[in-house]
Amino acid sequence: MLDIQKIRADFPILSQTVNGKPLVYFDNGATSQKPQIVIDAIEKYYQEINANIHRGVHTLSQLATDAYEISRGKVQQHINAKFTHEVLFTPGTTHGINLVTNGFASILKPGDEVLVSALEHHSNIVPWQMLCEKTGAVLKVIPMNEDGELIMDAFDALLSEKTKVVTVNHISNALGIINPIKYIIEKAHAVGAAVLIDGAQAVPHLKPDVQDLDCDFYVFSGHKMCGPTGTGILYGKEAWLNKLPPYQGGGEMIKEVTFEKTTYADLPHKFEAGTPNIAGGIVLGTAIDYLNNIGFDNIQEHEEELLEYATKRLLEIEGLRIYGTGKNKASVVSFNIDGIHPYDIGSIIDKLGIAVRTGHHCAQPIMNFFCIPGTIRASFSFYNTKEEIDLMVDAVKKAKTMLS
Ligand SMILES: *Cc1c(COP(=O)(O)O)cnc(C)c1O
Repeated sequence: MLDIQKIRADFPILSQTVNGKPLVYFDNGATSQKPQIVIDAIEKYYQEINANIHRGVHTLSQLATDAYEISRGKVQQHINAKFTHEVLFTPGTTHGINLVTNGFASILKPGDEVLVSALEHHSNIVPWQMLCEKTGAVLKVIPMNEDGELIMDAFDALLSEKTKVVTVNHISNALGIINPIKYIIEKAHAVGAAVLIDGAQAVPHLKPDVQDLDCDFYVFSGHKMCGPTGTGILYGKEAWLNKLPPYQGGGEMIKEVTFEKTTYADLPHKFEAGTPNIAGGIVLGTAIDYLNNIGFDNIQEHEEELLEYATKRLLEIEGLRIYGTGKNKASVVSFNIDGIHPYDIGSIIDKLGIAVRTGHHCAQPIMNFFCIPGTIRASFSFYNTKEEIDLMVDAVKKAKTMLS
Protein backbone atom coordinates (compact mmCIF):
# COMPACT_ATOMS: atom_id res chain seq x y z
CA MET A 1 0.00 0.00 0.00
CA LEU A 2 1.18 3.48 -0.85
CA ASP A 3 1.62 6.14 1.79
CA ILE A 4 -0.25 8.81 -0.16
CA GLN A 5 0.38 11.60 2.32
CA LYS A 6 4.11 10.95 2.08
CA ILE A 7 3.91 10.93 -1.72
CA ARG A 8 1.90 14.15 -1.75
CA ALA A 9 4.66 15.83 0.25
CA ASP A 10 6.94 15.23 -2.79
CA PHE A 11 4.74 17.59 -4.87
CA PRO A 12 4.99 21.18 -3.63
CA ILE A 13 2.13 22.42 -5.82
CA LEU A 14 -0.38 20.08 -4.17
CA SER A 15 -0.28 21.98 -0.89
CA GLN A 16 -1.35 25.23 -2.56
CA THR A 17 -4.70 26.89 -2.19
CA VAL A 18 -6.60 28.02 -5.30
CA ASN A 19 -9.36 30.59 -4.96
CA GLY A 20 -8.92 30.28 -1.19
CA LYS A 21 -9.57 26.51 -1.25
CA PRO A 22 -7.13 23.61 -1.06
CA LEU A 23 -6.18 22.60 -4.61
CA VAL A 24 -7.79 19.39 -5.85
CA TYR A 25 -5.87 18.62 -9.03
CA PHE A 26 -7.83 16.28 -11.30
CA ASP A 27 -6.43 17.43 -14.64
CA ASN A 28 -3.63 14.89 -14.78
CA GLY A 29 -4.68 13.82 -18.28
CA ALA A 30 -3.61 17.27 -19.52
CA THR A 31 -0.36 17.30 -17.59
CA SER A 32 0.87 15.78 -14.35
CA GLN A 33 2.38 17.69 -11.47
CA LYS A 34 6.13 17.44 -10.81
CA PRO A 35 7.84 16.05 -7.72
CA GLN A 36 10.53 18.11 -6.01
CA ILE A 37 13.20 15.67 -7.18
CA VAL A 38 12.38 16.57 -10.80
CA ILE A 39 12.30 20.30 -10.07
CA ASP A 40 15.66 20.02 -8.27
CA ALA A 41 17.22 18.02 -11.11
CA ILE A 42 16.43 20.81 -13.61
CA GLU A 43 18.11 23.36 -11.35
CA LYS A 44 21.09 21.08 -10.74
CA TYR A 45 21.63 20.61 -14.47
CA TYR A 46 21.86 24.36 -15.10
CA GLN A 47 23.92 24.99 -11.99
CA GLU A 48 26.46 22.24 -12.50
CA ILE A 49 26.79 20.70 -15.96
CA ASN A 50 25.09 22.92 -18.55
CA ALA A 51 26.91 22.52 -21.88
CA ASN A 52 26.02 21.45 -25.40
CA ILE A 53 26.10 17.71 -26.02
CA HIS A 54 27.89 15.46 -28.53
CA ARG A 55 30.06 18.39 -29.62
CA GLY A 56 32.80 19.35 -27.22
CA VAL A 57 35.79 17.49 -25.86
CA HIS A 58 35.64 19.67 -22.77
CA THR A 59 34.61 18.20 -19.44
CA LEU A 60 31.18 19.80 -19.05
CA SER A 61 30.17 18.79 -22.56
CA GLN A 62 31.19 15.22 -21.74
CA LEU A 63 29.24 15.29 -18.48
CA ALA A 64 26.11 16.64 -20.18
CA THR A 65 26.43 14.13 -23.03
CA ASP A 66 26.86 11.24 -20.58
CA ALA A 67 23.85 12.32 -18.53
CA TYR A 68 21.72 12.66 -21.68
CA GLU A 69 22.73 9.23 -22.97
CA ILE A 70 22.26 7.63 -19.54
CA SER A 71 18.71 8.98 -19.60
CA ARG A 72 18.16 7.48 -23.06
CA GLY A 73 19.30 4.16 -21.63
CA LYS A 74 16.82 4.49 -18.76
CA VAL A 75 14.00 5.01 -21.23
CA GLN A 76 15.18 2.01 -23.26
CA GLN A 77 15.07 -0.18 -20.16
CA HIS A 78 11.78 1.27 -19.02
CA ILE A 79 9.96 0.47 -22.26
CA ASN A 80 12.10 -2.62 -22.96
CA ALA A 81 13.34 -1.46 -26.37
CA LYS A 82 15.89 -3.80 -27.93
CA PHE A 83 18.44 -1.03 -28.69
CA THR A 84 19.12 2.40 -27.19
CA HIS A 85 19.27 3.85 -30.71
CA GLU A 86 15.61 2.95 -31.17
CA VAL A 87 14.79 5.58 -28.52
CA LEU A 88 14.55 9.10 -29.97
CA PHE A 89 14.19 12.21 -27.84
CA THR A 90 11.45 14.53 -29.13
CA PRO A 91 9.65 17.60 -27.79
CA GLY A 92 6.53 15.47 -27.20
CA THR A 93 3.92 13.12 -28.59
CA THR A 94 2.74 15.53 -31.28
CA HIS A 95 6.27 15.95 -32.63
CA GLY A 96 6.88 12.19 -32.57
CA ILE A 97 3.75 11.46 -34.61
CA ASN A 98 4.60 14.17 -37.14
CA LEU A 99 8.11 12.76 -37.49
CA VAL A 100 6.60 9.41 -38.48
CA THR A 101 3.89 10.77 -40.79
CA ASN A 102 6.50 12.94 -42.51
CA GLY A 103 8.60 9.84 -43.12
CA PHE A 104 5.69 7.88 -44.55
CA ALA A 105 5.17 10.56 -47.20
CA SER A 106 7.92 8.87 -49.20
CA ILE A 107 6.49 5.39 -48.66
CA LEU A 108 2.71 5.61 -49.23
CA LYS A 109 1.19 5.46 -52.71
CA PRO A 110 -2.22 6.61 -53.96
CA GLY A 111 -4.89 4.12 -52.88
CA ASP A 112 -2.92 2.82 -49.88
CA GLU A 113 -4.95 2.91 -46.67
CA VAL A 114 -4.26 4.33 -43.22
CA LEU A 115 -6.50 3.19 -40.35
CA VAL A 116 -6.98 5.52 -37.38
CA SER A 117 -9.36 4.87 -34.53
CA ALA A 118 -12.47 6.85 -33.64
CA LEU A 119 -10.95 7.41 -30.19
CA GLU A 120 -7.91 9.44 -31.24
CA HIS A 121 -6.56 12.73 -29.95
CA HIS A 122 -6.39 15.37 -32.70
CA SER A 123 -2.62 14.97 -32.76
CA ASN A 124 -3.07 11.39 -33.92
CA ILE A 125 -5.64 12.34 -36.57
CA VAL A 126 -4.54 15.54 -38.27
CA PRO A 127 -0.95 14.50 -39.18
CA TRP A 128 -2.34 11.35 -40.87
CA GLN A 129 -4.93 13.43 -42.74
CA MET A 130 -2.13 15.71 -43.94
CA LEU A 131 -0.13 12.64 -45.01
CA CYS A 132 -3.09 11.22 -46.94
CA GLU A 133 -3.67 14.55 -48.66
CA LYS A 134 -0.02 14.64 -49.71
CA THR A 135 0.20 11.03 -50.94
CA GLY A 136 -3.29 10.16 -52.17
CA ALA A 137 -3.61 7.49 -49.48
CA VAL A 138 -7.06 6.97 -47.96
CA LEU A 139 -7.87 7.49 -44.27
CA LYS A 140 -10.28 4.95 -42.77
CA VAL A 141 -11.72 5.01 -39.26
CA ILE A 142 -12.05 2.10 -36.81
CA PRO A 143 -15.47 2.79 -35.26
CA MET A 144 -16.47 2.62 -31.59
CA ASN A 145 -19.60 1.56 -29.71
CA GLU A 146 -21.74 3.41 -27.13
CA ASP A 147 -19.40 2.26 -24.34
CA GLY A 148 -16.49 3.99 -26.06
CA GLU A 149 -14.85 0.70 -27.06
CA LEU A 150 -13.38 0.11 -30.49
CA ILE A 151 -15.36 -2.45 -32.48
CA MET A 152 -12.92 -5.22 -33.30
CA ASP A 153 -15.15 -6.93 -35.88
CA ALA A 154 -15.27 -3.69 -37.83
CA PHE A 155 -11.49 -3.34 -37.49
CA ASP A 156 -10.96 -6.85 -38.84
CA ALA A 157 -13.24 -6.04 -41.78
CA LEU A 158 -11.30 -2.86 -42.60
CA LEU A 159 -7.96 -4.65 -42.84
CA SER A 160 -6.70 -5.66 -46.26
CA GLU A 161 -3.45 -5.74 -48.21
CA LYS A 162 -4.13 -2.06 -48.97
CA THR A 163 -3.68 -1.24 -45.27
CA LYS A 164 -0.20 0.21 -44.81
CA VAL A 165 -0.48 1.84 -41.39
CA VAL A 166 -2.71 1.35 -38.36
CA THR A 167 -2.60 3.89 -35.55
CA VAL A 168 -4.43 3.86 -32.25
CA ASN A 169 -3.92 5.21 -28.76
CA HIS A 170 -3.03 2.84 -25.95
CA ILE A 171 -5.43 4.67 -23.62
CA SER A 172 -8.00 7.25 -24.73
CA ASN A 173 -7.44 10.69 -23.23
CA ALA A 174 -11.10 11.67 -23.54
CA LEU A 175 -12.73 8.55 -22.07
CA GLY A 176 -9.96 6.58 -20.36
CA ILE A 177 -10.69 3.41 -22.35
CA ILE A 178 -7.72 1.02 -22.62
CA ASN A 179 -7.58 -0.31 -26.17
CA PRO A 180 -6.79 -3.95 -27.09
CA ILE A 181 -3.56 -2.89 -28.77
CA LYS A 182 -1.89 -6.27 -28.70
CA TYR A 183 -4.70 -7.73 -30.78
CA ILE A 184 -4.67 -4.71 -33.09
CA ILE A 185 -0.91 -4.95 -33.63
CA GLU A 186 -1.03 -8.67 -34.38
CA LYS A 187 -3.90 -8.32 -36.86
CA ALA A 188 -2.31 -5.31 -38.58
CA HIS A 189 1.00 -7.14 -38.95
CA ALA A 190 -0.80 -10.09 -40.50
CA VAL A 191 -1.66 -7.87 -43.50
CA GLY A 192 1.78 -6.25 -43.52
CA ALA A 193 0.78 -2.88 -42.02
CA ALA A 194 2.98 -0.86 -39.67
CA VAL A 195 1.51 0.13 -36.30
CA LEU A 196 2.00 3.35 -34.34
CA ILE A 197 0.76 3.41 -30.76
CA ASP A 198 0.05 6.78 -29.14
CA GLY A 199 1.06 6.04 -25.57
CA ALA A 200 0.65 9.60 -24.20
CA GLN A 201 -2.08 8.60 -21.73
CA ALA A 202 -0.69 5.17 -20.98
CA VAL A 203 2.79 5.94 -19.65
CA PRO A 204 1.56 7.68 -16.47
CA HIS A 205 -0.31 4.52 -15.50
CA LEU A 206 1.67 1.58 -16.80
CA LYS A 207 5.03 0.42 -18.10
CA PRO A 208 4.76 -0.44 -21.79
CA ASP A 209 6.85 -3.32 -23.13
CA VAL A 210 7.45 -2.45 -26.78
CA GLN A 211 9.05 -5.80 -27.63
CA ASP A 212 6.19 -7.75 -26.14
CA LEU A 213 3.66 -5.49 -27.86
CA ASP A 214 5.70 -5.76 -31.07
CA CYS A 215 4.53 -2.27 -32.17
CA ASP A 216 6.57 -0.50 -34.84
CA PHE A 217 6.34 2.91 -33.16
CA TYR A 218 5.36 3.98 -29.65
CA VAL A 219 5.16 7.69 -28.82
CA PHE A 220 4.65 9.59 -25.57
CA SER A 221 5.25 12.88 -23.76
CA GLY A 222 7.33 13.43 -20.64
CA HIS A 223 5.06 16.03 -19.08
CA LYS A 224 2.19 13.64 -18.42
CA MET A 225 4.48 11.29 -16.47
CA CYS A 226 5.97 13.73 -13.93
CA GLY A 227 8.66 14.96 -16.35
CA PRO A 228 9.25 18.44 -17.78
CA THR A 229 7.23 19.97 -20.63
CA GLY A 230 8.93 19.91 -24.02
CA THR A 231 10.15 16.34 -23.60
CA GLY A 232 8.98 13.16 -25.24
CA ILE A 233 10.02 9.87 -26.75
CA LEU A 234 9.53 8.23 -30.10
CA TYR A 235 10.37 4.56 -30.00
CA GLY A 236 10.75 3.02 -33.44
CA LYS A 237 11.95 -0.40 -34.53
CA GLU A 238 15.45 -0.13 -35.93
CA ALA A 239 14.42 -1.31 -39.40
CA TRP A 240 11.70 1.36 -39.65
CA LEU A 241 13.94 4.14 -38.36
CA ASN A 242 16.56 3.19 -40.93
CA LYS A 243 13.94 3.21 -43.65
CA LEU A 244 12.33 6.59 -42.82
CA PRO A 245 14.02 9.75 -44.11
CA PRO A 246 15.15 12.39 -41.57
CA TYR A 247 12.49 14.82 -40.33
CA GLN A 248 14.57 17.95 -39.98
CA GLY A 249 17.93 18.83 -41.44
CA GLY A 250 20.61 20.59 -39.44
CA GLY A 251 23.47 20.07 -37.04
CA GLU A 252 23.93 16.80 -35.18
CA MET A 253 22.01 14.69 -37.74
CA ILE A 254 24.76 14.51 -40.35
CA LYS A 255 27.86 12.45 -41.00
CA GLU A 256 29.39 14.60 -43.71
CA VAL A 257 28.19 17.76 -45.44
CA THR A 258 29.36 19.13 -48.75
CA PHE A 259 27.37 21.32 -51.12
CA GLU A 260 27.07 18.35 -53.47
CA LYS A 261 25.87 15.75 -51.01
CA THR A 262 25.19 15.22 -47.33
CA THR A 263 25.24 11.86 -45.61
CA TYR A 264 23.15 11.34 -42.51
CA ALA A 265 24.27 10.35 -39.07
CA ASP A 266 23.50 6.93 -37.61
CA LEU A 267 20.52 6.35 -35.34
CA PRO A 268 19.36 7.96 -33.15
CA HIS A 269 21.12 11.18 -34.22
CA LYS A 270 19.66 11.11 -37.73
CA PHE A 271 16.36 12.23 -36.18
CA GLU A 272 17.76 14.61 -33.58
CA ALA A 273 18.76 17.70 -35.56
CA GLY A 274 19.86 20.78 -33.64
CA THR A 275 20.40 21.34 -29.94
CA PRO A 276 17.74 19.36 -28.09
CA ASN A 277 16.06 20.02 -24.74
CA ILE A 278 19.11 18.69 -22.90
CA ALA A 279 17.96 19.45 -19.36
CA GLY A 280 14.51 18.06 -20.19
CA GLY A 281 15.87 14.84 -21.65
CA ILE A 282 18.09 14.23 -18.64
CA VAL A 283 15.33 15.00 -16.16
CA LEU A 284 12.84 12.75 -17.95
CA GLY A 285 15.11 9.97 -16.70
CA THR A 286 14.74 11.34 -13.15
CA ALA A 287 10.95 11.29 -13.52
CA ILE A 288 11.01 7.68 -14.74
CA ASP A 289 13.19 6.69 -11.77
CA TYR A 290 10.75 8.41 -9.44
CA LEU A 291 7.75 6.54 -10.88
CA ASN A 292 9.57 3.20 -10.81
CA ASN A 293 10.48 3.77 -7.16
CA ILE A 294 6.81 4.15 -6.35
CA GLY A 295 6.12 1.13 -8.56
CA PHE A 296 3.58 0.81 -11.36
CA ASP A 297 1.81 -2.06 -9.60
CA ASN A 298 1.19 0.23 -6.62
CA ILE A 299 0.19 3.10 -8.90
CA GLN A 300 -2.35 0.94 -10.73
CA GLU A 301 -3.81 -0.53 -7.58
CA HIS A 302 -4.38 2.90 -6.05
CA GLU A 303 -5.71 4.44 -9.25
CA GLU A 304 -8.16 1.57 -9.80
CA GLU A 305 -9.54 2.22 -6.33
CA LEU A 306 -9.91 5.92 -7.14
CA LEU A 307 -11.65 5.14 -10.44
CA GLU A 308 -14.10 2.76 -8.82
CA TYR A 309 -14.83 5.16 -5.97
CA ALA A 310 -15.27 8.21 -8.22
CA THR A 311 -17.55 6.29 -10.59
CA LYS A 312 -19.75 5.14 -7.72
CA ARG A 313 -19.91 8.55 -6.02
CA LEU A 314 -20.58 10.49 -9.23
CA LEU A 315 -23.40 8.15 -10.25
CA GLU A 316 -25.20 9.13 -7.01
CA ILE A 317 -25.91 12.44 -8.74
CA GLU A 318 -29.21 12.35 -10.58
CA GLY A 319 -28.98 13.13 -14.29
CA LEU A 320 -25.24 12.44 -14.42
CA ARG A 321 -24.00 10.37 -17.34
CA ILE A 322 -20.53 8.89 -17.64
CA TYR A 323 -19.02 8.50 -21.13
CA GLY A 324 -16.64 5.61 -21.63
CA THR A 325 -18.42 2.80 -19.81
CA GLY A 326 -16.28 0.02 -21.27
CA LYS A 327 -14.72 -2.41 -18.79
CA ASN A 328 -11.05 -1.85 -19.45
CA LYS A 329 -10.33 1.67 -18.15
CA ALA A 330 -7.62 3.88 -16.72
CA SER A 331 -8.36 6.40 -13.96
CA VAL A 332 -10.33 8.89 -16.06
CA VAL A 333 -14.00 9.78 -15.62
CA SER A 334 -15.66 11.83 -18.35
CA PHE A 335 -19.20 12.97 -17.54
CA ASN A 336 -22.03 15.43 -18.06
CA ILE A 337 -25.17 16.40 -16.19
CA ASP A 338 -28.42 16.54 -18.13
CA GLY A 339 -29.23 19.98 -19.50
CA ILE A 340 -26.10 21.70 -18.11
CA HIS A 341 -23.14 22.81 -20.21
CA PRO A 342 -19.87 21.20 -19.02
CA TYR A 343 -18.12 24.57 -19.07
CA ASP A 344 -20.59 25.99 -16.50
CA ILE A 345 -19.90 23.15 -14.07
CA GLY A 346 -16.15 23.43 -14.64
CA SER A 347 -16.16 27.17 -13.88
CA ILE A 348 -18.15 26.82 -10.67
CA ILE A 349 -16.11 23.96 -9.27
CA ASP A 350 -12.89 25.83 -10.13
CA LYS A 351 -14.05 28.50 -7.66
CA LEU A 352 -14.15 25.67 -5.12
CA GLY A 353 -10.53 24.69 -5.85
CA ILE A 354 -11.29 21.73 -8.12
CA ALA A 355 -9.23 21.56 -11.33
CA VAL A 356 -10.88 19.42 -14.02
CA ARG A 357 -10.80 19.69 -17.79
CA THR A 358 -13.95 20.71 -19.62
CA GLY A 359 -14.45 20.68 -23.38
CA HIS A 360 -13.74 18.33 -26.25
CA HIS A 361 -10.32 17.18 -24.94
CA CYS A 362 -8.79 17.49 -28.41
CA ALA A 363 -11.08 14.68 -29.55
CA GLN A 364 -13.98 16.36 -31.34
CA PRO A 365 -14.97 13.22 -33.28
CA ILE A 366 -15.76 11.47 -29.97
CA MET A 367 -17.94 14.40 -28.88
CA ASN A 368 -19.71 14.32 -32.26
CA PHE A 369 -20.33 10.59 -31.79
CA PHE A 370 -22.14 11.25 -28.49
CA CYS A 371 -23.75 14.47 -29.89
CA ILE A 372 -22.39 16.61 -27.06
CA PRO A 373 -20.29 19.79 -27.03
CA GLY A 374 -17.85 18.29 -24.54
CA THR A 375 -17.55 16.64 -21.15
CA ILE A 376 -16.17 17.30 -17.70
CA ARG A 377 -13.10 15.10 -17.32
CA ALA A 378 -11.61 14.18 -13.99
CA SER A 379 -8.33 12.33 -14.48
CA PHE A 380 -6.65 10.90 -11.39
CA SER A 381 -3.03 10.30 -10.53
CA PHE A 382 -1.40 8.15 -7.84
CA TYR A 383 -1.12 11.24 -5.60
CA ASN A 384 -4.89 11.82 -5.52
CA THR A 385 -7.15 10.66 -2.69
CA LYS A 386 -10.73 9.57 -2.03
CA GLU A 387 -11.17 12.65 0.17
CA GLU A 388 -10.44 14.78 -2.88
CA ILE A 389 -13.06 12.84 -4.84
CA ASP A 390 -15.56 13.61 -2.08
CA LEU A 391 -14.71 17.30 -2.40
CA MET A 392 -15.28 17.13 -6.16
CA VAL A 393 -18.60 15.31 -5.81
CA ASP A 394 -19.81 17.90 -3.26
CA ALA A 395 -18.71 20.69 -5.58
CA VAL A 396 -20.48 19.15 -8.59
CA LYS A 397 -23.67 18.76 -6.52
CA LYS A 398 -23.45 22.40 -5.49
CA ALA A 399 -22.90 23.50 -9.10
CA LYS A 400 -25.87 21.42 -10.23
CA THR A 401 -28.15 23.07 -7.66
CA MET A 402 -26.96 26.53 -8.70
CA LEU A 403 -27.45 25.84 -12.41
CA SER A 404 -30.75 23.98 -12.47
C1 LIG B 1 -1.73 14.71 -24.63
C2 LIG B 1 -1.95 13.77 -25.72
C3 LIG B 1 -1.35 13.95 -26.97
C4 LIG B 1 -0.53 15.16 -27.30
O1 LIG B 1 0.58 15.27 -26.47
P1 LIG B 1 1.49 16.59 -26.50
O2 LIG B 1 2.31 16.46 -25.27
O3 LIG B 1 0.53 17.75 -26.44
O4 LIG B 1 2.26 16.57 -27.76
C5 LIG B 1 -1.57 12.99 -27.94
N1 LIG B 1 -2.32 11.91 -27.71
C6 LIG B 1 -2.91 11.70 -26.52
C7 LIG B 1 -3.71 10.45 -26.32
C8 LIG B 1 -2.75 12.61 -25.49
O5 LIG B 1 -3.35 12.40 -24.33
